[in-house]
Amino acid sequence: MAACIFCKIVKGLLFESDKILAFLDIQPLSKGHALVIPKHHGEKLVDIPDDVLAEILPVVKKLATASGAENYNVLQNNGRLAHQEVGHVHFHMIPKPNETEGLEIGWPAG
Ligand code: 5GP
Repeated sequence: MAACIFCKIVKGLLFESDKILAFLDIQPLSKGHALVIPKHHGEKLVDIPDDVLAEILPVVKKLATASGAENYNVLQNNGRLAHQEVGHVHFHMIPKPNETEGLEIGWPAG
């Protein structure tokens, strides 16, 4: 059922391990805009244990590869002045559409 919010959540899930979750951004800046988060709650990068952080970038890399985009942005905002809106650490993987797809991503993204 198209309107089912739980189905939308399940569809948006991209990756899960015991420490990491990845899902599609609800307001994507481009097709495939994904967020990778630690399950461990922490507001900023410095709040996340190193062993958890070490597992995040390989997942970001997998998603970048899976998106098929030759160009993409990876970013992680810390604090209000750095455009962090959600107070749980997250990494954006934002595929940059090909020129022919005609969508421009603003900066700062997220
Ligand atoms: P920030 O500005 O904190 O780096 O980015 C927060 C991101 O979280 C934004 O791109 C926003 O669209 C996304 N976001 C906020 N609320 C939700 C939500 O409920 N579900 C999903 N999938 N993404 C969300």
